[in-house]
Amino acid sequence: MTPYDAPSPQVRTEPLIDGFGRAVTYLRVSVTDRCDLRCVYCMAEHMTFLPKKDLLSLEELDRVGSAFVELGVRKLRITGGEPLVRKGVMGLIARLGRHLRAGALEELTLTTNGTQLEAFAGQLADAGVRRVNVSMDTRKPDLFRRLTRGGDVAKVMRGLQAAREAGLQVKINAVALAQDNAAEIPDLIAWAHGEGMDITLIETMPLGEVEADRTEQFLSLKEVRRELESFWTLQDIPLSTGGPARYVRVAETGGRLGFITPLSHNFCEACNRVRLTCTGTLHTCLGREDASDLRAVLRAGADDAALKDAIRLAVDAKPKGHDFRIERAAAPALARHMSTTGG
Ligand code: SAM
Ligand code: SF4
Repeated sequence: MTPYDAPSPQVRTEPLIDGFGRAVTYLRVSVTDRCDLRCVYCMAEHMTFLPKKDLLSLEELDRVGSAFVELGVRKLRITGGEPLVRKGVMGLIARLGRHLRAGALEELTLTTNGTQLEAFAGQLADAGVRRVNVSMDTRKPDLFRRLTRGGDVAKVMRGLQAAREAGLQVKINAVALAQDNAAEIPDLIAWAHGEGMDITLIETMPLGEVEADRTEQFLSLKEVRRELESFWTLQDIPLSTGGPARYVRVAETGGRLGFITPLSHNFCEACNRVRLTCTGTLHTCLGREDASDLRAVLRAGADDAALKDAIRLAVDAKPKGHDFRIERAAAPALARHMSTTGG
């Protein structure tokens, strides 16, 4: 028992099933819109962040997260913004860890830029976190500094080291950018696999206004895959996460490589996930503007039953699929930034 242990749901209510018969078992929670980096594809250089009162408090985040667990969510991912810059976030993660110990939750994970991992890796492991995704698009210090507008790749490397020393399994996430890291991608994969880490490549998604022209940054992963296959053997592996990632094993390195292609593939039929923003808005589809305001429900004094009813209502209306397009000079397909929704 830890000081954070409190009763976890013993009684399961009806699982969350949407209007198309898909079970929702995966929740991503963005705990902040803030970040210590300003990746060019994610944020504008001068972002206006939300006032504190708009954010769910740590207690509110715990309440909503726990309600989802009681409704059958088995996997919970904490994200942001940069989740580890939110003050007190380790307390929240440790509290959510009680659902792991009770067997109600299978996995509690984190997506992070890695800059704070050196300080937090040990506490994450103590809370029951076993795997983390660390976003890193390049290992080159100059390019990293430019892409993140000021970040220090050495700090992330120290974070990776600390994560492994704490026994955390690490997966690297890298956004594929036509002009910036395209040539480095094979090196990045070989390096990650050499260090015993999986790596997933991500296509840029049209979310939020940023200065750069997305059509120039966009690099099709179909193209990347074709190039990799000219010198490596990529063997499909049937690892389905219910999300947009497809996995292969690179025979030559022995490591796993994922491709997240939200623009060129339709993965919606098997979608098992929903997202909660740091302001308590529930999005049941990354690619649509559907939204339910759970903060309003919480702050109107709803009890747990009413909160769960609101969640069920939102999930019931989960759209069948999304409709992303990247068009030159077009407005972003969605106005919200990834940092608000949670990647
Ligand atoms: N700050 C953490 C990080 O960077 O891992 C967590 C939040 S970040 C929004 C989650 C993921 O979204 C990162 O892997 C990032 O590279 C990716 N991302 C951000 N903006 C994106 C975009 N426009 N298209 C595709 N991926 C994006
Ligand atoms: Fe921050 Fe992650 Fe967005 Fe980069 S991708 S600016 S690290 S939230």
